[in-house]
Order: sequence, then structure tokens, then C-alpha cells
Amino acid sequence: MIEITGKHLINGQWVNSTAATFTSANPSTDDVNPWTFFDASADDADSAVASAHDAFRQLRRKSAAQRAALLNAIATEIENLGEQLVHAAMSETALPQMRIEGERGRTCGQLRAFANNLLNPISPVFIDHAQPERQPLPKGDSRLTNMPLGPVVVFGASNFPLAFSTAGGDTASALAAGCSVIVKGHPAHPATTELVSHAIKRAIDICDMPTGVFNMVQSTTPQVAQQLVQHPQVKAVGFTGSQKVGDILNKLTQERPIAIPFFGELGSTNPQFILPQKLASDAQSLANNQVASMLMGHGQFCTSPGLVVVQNSDGLEGYLATLANAISEAPAGTMLTKGIAQTYNRQVDLLLSNPSLTHIASGAASNGGCQSSANAFSVSASDFIAQPTLQEEVFGPCALVVICDNDEQMGEFALSLTGQLTASVFGSDDELLDYIDLVDDIAQSVGRLMFNQLPTGVEVCHSMQHGGPYPASTAPQTTSVGSQAINRFTRPICLQNMPIALQPAEIKDGATHPQVIV
Ligand code: NAP
Repeated sequence: MIEITGKHLINGQWVNSTAATFTSANPSTDDVNPWTFFDASADDADSAVASAHDAFRQLRRKSAAQRAALLNAIATEIENLGEQLVHAAMSETALPQMRIEGERGRTCGQLRAFANNLLNPISPVFIDHAQPERQPLPKGDSRLTNMPLGPVVVFGASNFPLAFSTAGGDTASALAAGCSVIVKGHPAHPATTELVSHAIKRAIDICDMPTGVFNMVQSTTPQVAQQLVQHPQVKAVGFTGSQKVGDILNKLTQERPIAIPFFGELGSTNPQFILPQKLASDAQSLANNQVASMLMGHGQFCTSPGLVVVQNSDGLEGYLATLANAISEAPAGTMLTKGIAQTYNRQVDLLLSNPSLTHIASGAASNGGCQSSANAFSVSASDFIAQPTLQEEVFGPCALVVICDNDEQMGEFALSLTGQLTASVFGSDDELLDYIDLVDDIAQSVGRLMFNQLPTGVEVCHSMQHGGPYPASTAPQTTSVGSQAINRFTRPICLQNMPIALQPAEIKDGATHPQVIV
């Protein structure tokens, strides 16, 4: 068993410099968990960045194979934490054991996938050989590769205590890219953060990597988070959380004397478009599947389907009746934190008091605290379009059915959409072909477009795109899931006339790395 110290991990040492402390709570009982954590000071944050900066200067000369070994070792050491990690995560998030174990598998699988990609790269480097005889001017030897950006600050996400937190996708892709990392743990699951940090420290020691490759600070004060993203030695930020905080941090990164990339995943309502013939033929199964997807994780997934878009046509009545029935049978559920439950309940109250909306149904009543009930509403497309606030994500088990008068209004609705991580379109192949313009318009607003599939569940693979136009993400050209996530933390560099002895392995003539030679 690892003793939880409540300290920060800086340059391989567990440290604290303040007396200020905080605790985490068990959302299902509201009991305070039996650990105390130190709030990082400004000096702690500075030391963590200095450590990452020094380590980066060594890490950038480590080979891809050495970085792969570190990622594999981190996965093994997370698994070695065994039951202790599962129980800590359960008591800090109220997520069930199966979910936490599944998330641990995903986290380790993700780390190993990045390791495998480093050992078996598929993206080529480009080599232009010298042409000294070229007229009228000789051409020099130039080679295009990618280099790591430098120290990256990663914010742990509340809704994925493992897969999007301390050793989650942002950390795994930053380390794979050759960047050092400073994690700012999420204040709702600090024991989970500390345990995973122990695993990473062990892996660093086993692999003989520089100790400051990974640093972790715990804090409940916005000042520390803001200081980290403004630090001149920090070169990029990965963030998953609210639009409000994401906007604050993004602004700070852009107002620095030298702006840095801010990769924020901030919120999405993931609209589900049901075409008229499909609604007429499959209303009941569509409604039941919609509710099942929305209730996964009690609606606390970034891809949870919060909007359904239909026409006032055959099948609508049956769809709404089935939806009402399924929602009313939904049990109340525990949310990740009291703050998230309060925000959800406040947003639902606003929807209840909105005269343009019809309340379709509520699930079983909650008992207060961190619990909440499922809800569904309907609204006309014209009222929805007239009220931009209805586009805001309601983080939790809530769906809004938008009813369009006709094809034209459905198209108008699609064009009014803000940026989304995903959207789905339901229809037969023939019907989809008839709505090709609508499909193209929806594609303009989303990072992932699905056909006849619900959005919950994000595969970690080469072709995944988890991002989208703002506010889904702040960097729609990039993804936070899948192998391409590594590109967020590198930038291209052209190395011209570089002596062979200095060349990185992947650009040397004859390297096993895929090369396009001109
Ligand atoms: P959050 O409030 O955005 O917090 C994320 C991180 O930012 C935490 O580490 C938090 O730590 C820090 N922070 C908070 N206020 C800050 C400020 N003013 N300046 C700098 N840093 C600040 O997210 P959350 O706690 O995870 O959940 C709140 C809401 O975010 C949810 O209700 C939901 O709407 C949204 N959310 C969405 C997704 C998604 O995938 N779409 C995922 C998670 C959350 P401190 O509070 O200790 O400073």
C-alpha cells in the first residue's frame, strides 16, 4: 500500500511548502475522504516548471525507444497499483468499480498505443537530398521532421479521473512527443492523482529518465492554475473542463508576451439529427437508445447526446412518448462533485422556467447533495435559434428535442449550430443521399460525424478526431484522443545541411522510420 502524503511531486521528490490544505469528498455519501492535501504555493508551481524545463533539455535527446519504454513502464506501474487505485478513484468520484477498471484499461492501453506508435511510426519524414549541380543555383540538403515543444501543463479532468487526468491522453501524448509535463491535479480526485503520480515516478526511476520529466502539483486556488499557464518556460497547455475556465486560461495563454498553444476541450451538445423517414419507421428504438446513451455515466461524458433534432412529421408523437417513458423510469444518479450537481440543477431550473420549452419528463427524484435526476424538454427550432443560450452544454443527463417544421428549417438549424465534438445523422442510405446538403452543413460544425450511431464511446485509434470548432475545442485542427494527439505537442522543423553526426535518428539516410525522399 502506498501512503498518501498529500504532497506535490517535483523533480522526483514529494514536497510541500505551505500549511494550507484541502480534502476530497465521497460524492455518494458526502463524507470527507481520509486524506489531506497541501495547496501548492506560487513557489511550488515555479519549482515544478523549473524541474520540467531542466528535464526537457535532457529528454529531447532521448530516443523514441526510450520514450516508448517509459510509456510502457507507466502503464505497468499503474496496473501494479491494483485495488488501491480503484478504491481511491471510486471514493473520490462515486463512479462504479467496473467503470474505473475499464477506464484504467483504457488509460494503460492508450499509453501502450503511444509507445507502439513510437516504435512503429507511420508518419513519414521528408528528405530533399542536395543537388550541388543544380543550375542556376545549387540546392542544399534539407530534411523535415518534428520536434517537441517543451514543458506542457496538463489539467486533470473531473469526469475521467484516469483516462483524461494524471496519466491520461494529454500526458501520454506529451511524453510521447518528447515533452516534459506538469500536471495540475483536479481538486475533486487528489488521492487518485497522487497514486498515479507514484506510478509515473516509479516508471521514471526504472527507465532511468530525468526525474523532472513528470511533475505534479495539487491546488484549489485559481492563482496556481493561472500562474502555470503564464509561466514563460511553459510551452503548451492541455485542458478538459468548463467553457468558463477554459476561456479564462486560453485568454491568459494568448496574452503572454509570446503566446502558446492552448488545447482546451470545453463542451459539446452532440446533436442527433433524425431524418423524417427514419423517425417514421424507428421512433421507439431511436428514443430508447437515445436515453440509454444519455444516461451513460449519468450524462457526464463530453460526447453525451444533449440535443435531438427532428421534424414535426410521422413518428414524432411515438418518439416523444417513448422518450418520456424512458426518462421517467431513469433512476436518480450521483454526479462527480457537488459543484457539478449544483450547476446541472441550476441549468435544469432555468430550462423549467423557460416559457418556450415543454418539459417532457423527469426521472426519479434525487435526494439532493450530489444527486440529480434525468430530464428531457422540447422546443421549436425557431425558439431554439432565437435563444443562443440554449446551445450551451448542460453537463448531465438532460436532453432537448428541437422540433423543426420542415427540411428548410432543419437546414437553418444545422447552420446555426456552434462547434461540436460530434453529431449523428440517422437515416437509410437513400434518405441520407437526399439530405446531402444537410449532412455537409452539419459537418462544418463538428469534429466527428456519425451515421446511425450514438456518440458515447470514443475509440483510441489512428483515425479518431476528438475536437471540433469552438467551443467544442479551442484548437479544431487537432485531436485529444487517438494517435494524432501527439501532433499537438510537436512542431515541424526543417534541418538544412545538418552534419550526419548531429541528425536525429529518423532523418538519417536509411533509417527504418518511413521517409519520403525527393
Ligand atoms: P472546471 O470548473 O472548468 O475546472 C477545471 C480545472 O480548472 C480545475 O483544475 C480547477 O481547479 C481549475 N479552475 C477552476 N476555476 C479556475 C479559474 N478561475 N482559473 C484557473 N483555473 C481554474 O471543470 P470541472 O470542475 O471539471 O467541472 C465544472 C464544469 O465543467 C461541469 O459542470 C461541466 O459543465 C464542465 N465540464 C465539461 C466536460 C466535458 O467533457 N464537456 C468535462 C468536465 C467538466 P480549481 O477549482 O481548484 O482552481
